[in-house]
Amino acid sequence: MTGKTHQVLGMATALSYFVSQSDVKYSPATMGAVLVAAHLTSVLPDIDQPAAQIWAELPFGKTIGKISDPILKHRNITHSAVGFILIGTGLFYLFKLFPDYWGIDRRVLLIASLIAYCSHLVADMFTQEGIPLFFPYKRMIGIPPKPFDGIRIMTGKWFENLVIFPAVNLFFIIFIILNWSKIKMILLR
Ligand SMILES: [Zn+2]
Repeated sequence: MTGKTHQVLGMATALSYFVSQSDVKYSPATMGAVLVAAHLTSVLPDIDQPAAQIWAELPFGKTIGKISDPILKHRNITHSAVGFILIGTGLFYLFKLFPDYWGIDRRVLLIASLIAYCSHLVADMFTQEGIPLFFPYKRMIGIPPKPFDGIRIMTGKWFENLVIFPAVNLFFIIFIILNWSKIKMILLR
């Protein structure tokens, strides 16, 4: 999938989780952090692709993306269970650095970030290439499994652009509309 699809999907799934957590402390700050984090972690697995969206989002990212080209191969460790655990551990320690006065619920932020990360892996499983889920075991895993992989989605092609991307956006918008009273309460708390 392309970066834009991953980002909308990541923010939609992370926000759904956030809204379901009605007991979130200091909510407006946490909600802001959840959306920013989901925006980034939803494309984080693609740091193994030099042309990745995340490089475009970071300062000097385009240069780093180019330098990383020969070293990193497309869909590698960051698209695996091992990568998920490593990134999760990294984020856990990163969020620990956030001072209390920022008013961010670290547990909710971590889970939401990981949900967005996970949404990327799941979405990529539906693409032709699949992902090396059990890295370092190199077999690419996808949904549906072989020999039915012919019906999987081609990244960046018409089905993603004209069906998946609009559908994910629509889900995100409908979700916000349906939960607007709750979101408004969280924002005004
Ligand atoms: Zn990916």
